[in-house]
Amino acid sequence: MTSQFFKPNGMIYLDGNSLGMLPNAVAERVNNVVQQQWGNDLINSWNQHDWINLPLTVGDKIARLLGAAPGQVVCCDSISLNLFKVLSAALQLREGRNTVLSTADNFPTDLYMVQGLQQLVGEQQCQLKLVAEQQLVDAIDETTAVVLVTEVNFRSGQRLDLATLSQLAHQHGALIIADLAHSAGAMAIELDHWQVDFAVGCTYKYLNAGPGAPGFVYVAKRHHDQFRQPLYGWMGHANAFEFAAEYRPAAGIRALLTGTPSIIALAAVDAALTAFDGHDLAQLHQQALDLADQFDNALQQHDIAGQFQRLTPLTRQQRGCQLSYAHPQAYAICQALIAAGVIADFRAPNYLRFGFTPLYLSAVEVEQAAQKLAEIIHHKRYLAAEFQQRRGTVT
Ligand SMILES: *Cc1c(COP(=O)(O)O)cnc(C)c1O
Repeated sequence: MTSQFFKPNGMIYLDGNSLGMLPNAVAERVNNVVQQQWGNDLINSWNQHDWINLPLTVGDKIARLLGAAPGQVVCCDSISLNLFKVLSAALQLREGRNTVLSTADNFPTDLYMVQGLQQLVGEQQCQLKLVAEQQLVDAIDETTAVVLVTEVNFRSGQRLDLATLSQLAHQHGALIIADLAHSAGAMAIELDHWQVDFAVGCTYKYLNAGPGAPGFVYVAKRHHDQFRQPLYGWMGHANAFEFAAEYRPAAGIRALLTGTPSIIALAAVDAALTAFDGHDLAQLHQQALDLADQFDNALQQHDIAGQFQRLTPLTRQQRGCQLSYAHPQAYAICQALIAAGVIADFRAPNYLRFGFTPLYLSAVEVEQAAQKLAEIIHHKRYLAAEFQQRRGTVT
């Protein structure tokens, strides 16, 4: 299993929740696409290698990991952009209502996209309302147009119950948009079964497709005849190569496309997905939970658990593949861990995040990581000046 991924020597990687490791198949595929398809076959490749349909063929492969039937997912753009498209589409499907209900600690870009849309179309058409995660269920009512939720919180690692939220939204005549950034490739998802209306996600976290690889967007089939998204681009036209002056949306999910797809990055997504062949996502999630439990237990055994405040609930249904801990020295501890070869990450103001990815992380490594953390805490290594100093803008 491990050999499917490129592993730097001596590194223990607990940051697959931020940027997945490089699958060997991706390096090979990208090289082939660059040398053979682009280098040799040049523009013929749009037809010869079916580049033109790659956003849809890759979308259908992602759909299998989301519990979605074919024809409902396309791979393109970023979460932010795709969110703008489906937010606009969902609000138009709920004319007469303007409230977009979300959670105050949702990932900022999700909230920014609503704020930007609100600025563009005015509060009459779009108004962001924020509540705490625990209040979400009670806050959904007859004024709600769209419920916008991230299934697994990027800070706390806490998982929301999408099936229940979807049902509640529909009972009150609202639609639901799910952000699957920390779900896709991490756990079993049942978009069709849960009757989610729209979903977005990225491929560079648990799907291991590389930095800035295109995201994905899901639109449930029942909306295909009515939805409209405002970023009219030629790739989403019913017949792009007719070069007509007037926009006519393509039928179905293709209408989510805007401009020319990034073929090299899409090929990386396609190859990265092969790492999931023969794996069951529910089972991978259980393995991740086991690794996370092992880590949390090890903190107790090393007698350092008391120094951290765990933000992630240990109930298995209520978390994804990440554990988060608050500590006043979180930044410096993270730097000390990285110096010791254990890659975790820091989120302001004082959170440490650890991602557990059974496709390329072993129980032995988890034990070693906990041991290194214990040494750093017991010897207060994080107090060293080199770790106290902020470096770089990315954490
Ligand atoms: C990582 C992440 C994003 C990132 O959005 P991009 O537009 O792909 O950069 C958005 N939402 C959540 C919940 C995330 O965790």
